[in-house]
Amino acid sequence: MSNATAVETRPPLPAVDRVLATDAARVLAERFGRAATVASVRASLSEVRPAWLGGASVDISPERIAAAATLRLEAEARPSQRRVLNLTGTVLHTNLGRALLAEEAIAAVTAAMRGPSSLEFDLATGQRGERDDHVRGLLRELTGAEDAVAVNNNAAAVLLTLNSLSEGRESIVSRGELIEIGGSFRMPSIMARAGARLVEVGTTNRTHLADYADAIGPDTALIMKVHPSNYRIEGFVKEVCARELAPLARDHGLPLVDDLGSGVLVDLAAYGLVRERTVQEAVCDGADLVTFSGDKLLGGPQAGLVIGRADLVKRLAKNHLKRALRLDKLRLAALEATLKLYRDPDRLAARLPTLALLTRPPDALKALAGRFAPALARAAGRDYEVAVADTESQIGSGALPLATIPSGGLTVASVDARRAGSALQKLAAALRAVSTPVIGRISDDRLILDLRALDDEAAFAASLDELAATTAAAGAAR
Ligand SMILES: *Cc1c(COP(=O)(O)O)cnc(C)c1O
Repeated sequence: MSNATAVETRPPLPAVDRVLATDAARVLAERFGRAATVASVRASLSEVRPAWLGGASVDISPERIAAAATLRLEAEARPSQRRVLNLTGTVLHTNLGRALLAEEAIAAVTAAMRGPSSLEFDLATGQRGERDDHVRGLLRELTGAEDAVAVNNNAAAVLLTLNSLSEGRESIVSRGELIEIGGSFRMPSIMARAGARLVEVGTTNRTHLADYADAIGPDTALIMKVHPSNYRIEGFVKEVCARELAPLARDHGLPLVDDLGSGVLVDLAAYGLVRERTVQEAVCDGADLVTFSGDKLLGGPQAGLVIGRADLVKRLAKNHLKRALRLDKLRLAALEATLKLYRDPDRLAARLPTLALLTRPPDALKALAGRFAPALARAAGRDYEVAVADTESQIGSGALPLATIPSGGLTVASVDARRAGSALQKLAAALRAVSTPVIGRISDDRLILDLRALDDEAAFAASLDELAATTAAAGAAR
């Protein structure tokens, strides 16, 4: 009998109303509303129609269609921005949202969301206030600077600074510092957008004080230093530090702007990490304005901070661009609460998640890995070998790119070495497909799960159990 005959004799697909009459569809209507349920049932019918008409054997019972509609609605209801577990080894991972907020900051954000706040209202006078006042005093106290403004991110801080001080005029930067960060922040492009003319001095690897001095002319508006962040030049290198540049800038009446990138407010060496120049040091070195991020090493919300000389900060605050780049009340609340933690350095590492994660001892992480190894082995199945391993994590977001931090975690290798690449991709995809996706990294034919930035052990255990159930079912089927 030909296929064509079979198609002609096939009964039609169930009507939408018959599917809606099932118990499963009634539950769906309760959960998601009638309109969404009808739409999902229609979409589920459309999905099976071609196969059904083509003569394939498909279950078209109303219950089966309702079950498909349920899966569809549940997938649509899941948030697009999902909670994940960052086992990449990069603590401040830009793609995974950078710094985790401290509980104090989370509480402040929640309070600011729930009701009206004194965002731009001075409770003492009853007059209009300034939103940046909530963090200005703290930033002055913590950095030693005269004044401060807060904007959307550090890219915005640089844009606002250059536009306010150098529009239509020249900004001098070393060629060795014309960096690109993550593809979306290129210093020359930001300068162009700010209307500042870039004057490059020196060469990629060597710039001398005389190079800066020679470039100064009647159109010079400022001298800028940029932290090279995500790269390092090694070997035959000469960089002019801010302390050397400051007198030159001062002699010519030019502001020295220092874009630090990461806003470190404490001596990282005191926590056993590699030293990074702090914001306070940049101020002491004579930088007139210092720019840095809120969600890198500072450990707060996405923000850009500019601190420094009061007369210059005032020019930034008066720029109309500031309105377009300003922070909202939620992030200001988070930033204020985060900065307040810095008043108590003794408890900072316990309260600030970024510092807490960066200072976790490798031995403790390896012991933790040992406890998770059996569950990971079950989740991976018999095609893989799991081991507890010494790993190397890093700060991320351009901070100290060459400094790795000894860490601990789990590695997974494929038992079939010839198929290692595709087998590891498959396992990585399976780990991403569970309710709380687990994000690792693949390197040297191993899937590495670094536990340094694991912030929820129960969620990790649940994710592994969920994958183990799928793996066991697949194993039984073959
Ligand atoms: C990260 C970084 C930026 C950009 O900061 P965002 O907060 O991501 O906008 C700018 N300059 C330097 C030196 C950086 O490291």
